[in-house]
Amino acid sequence: MTAALLSVLAACSASRVVRPTVAPEPESSPSASAVRWPIGPTPAHAGPRDTRVSTDDLDALWQRQLMVPVEGIPRGALRDDYTAKRTAGMHRALDILAPRYTAVVASDDLVIGRLFSGPVGGIVIYAYDPEQRFVYYYAHLQRYRKGLAVGDRVAKGSVIGYVGTTGNAPPDTPHLHFQVMKRAVGRAWWDGPAINPFSFFALDALRP
Ligand SMILES: [Zn+2]
Repeated sequence: MTAALLSVLAACSASRVVRPTVAPEPESSPSASAVRWPIGPTPAHAGPRDTRVSTDDLDALWQRQLMVPVEGIPRGALRDDYTAKRTAGMHRALDILAPRYTAVVASDDLVIGRLFSGPVGGIVIYAYDPEQRFVYYYAHLQRYRKGLAVGDRVAKGSVIGYVGTTGNAPPDTPHLHFQVMKRAVGRAWWDGPAINPFSFFALDALRP
C-alpha cells in the first residue's frame, strides 16, 4: 500500500456526510433561520420515509451507466475502499486519487442540488439524477467549474470541478471522495443510505 493511500486512510473521513445542523429556533424570534449551510432546491417527491436500498434500486443504478468521475481514470484503476475504516466509521465512498486540478466529471446526467464548503468534505457538490432517485456526492474539490450553480443540469461526462485537498483530505494526497446514495424520503434528500458504486461504473472517464 502506498504512503499516499495510507495517509488517506488515516485522515479521510469525508464519508461522514456533513449534515446541516439545525438548532432549535428561539421562540422569541420565529423568523430566525438556524440552517448553517446553503441548501439547494429539494426534489419534489414526497412519500413515506424510505432508508433501504432494494434490488430494484440497484438495477436502476446499473441502468444509469455511471461514468468514473475523474478524467483519465479507467474503471480498472479504481480501488474498492468502500468498507475501509475512517475516523467517523465506515468509509461508504470511494477515494479516487489524481493530480490536483484533474477534472472531476459528472458520473451521470445531473441536476446540481447543493453546493457548500465545510471542514470535513471541503468544497463539495451534491447532485441527483434526472429521476431524482440517486444522489452523488463529490468532496475535497479544489474548486468548482467556473459558473457552476445550484439547479444546473449537467450532461454525463461534463466537467463539474477539479480534484483537490479541501476539507480534511491530506494536503499531499489530492483525491476525489465520491459517494452514491439513494435519495432520502422523509428527511433531507441528500441524507439517504449509501450504495457502493464500485461495481456500477459502465464507462471510463477518458481524457478529452
Ligand atoms: Zn474518502
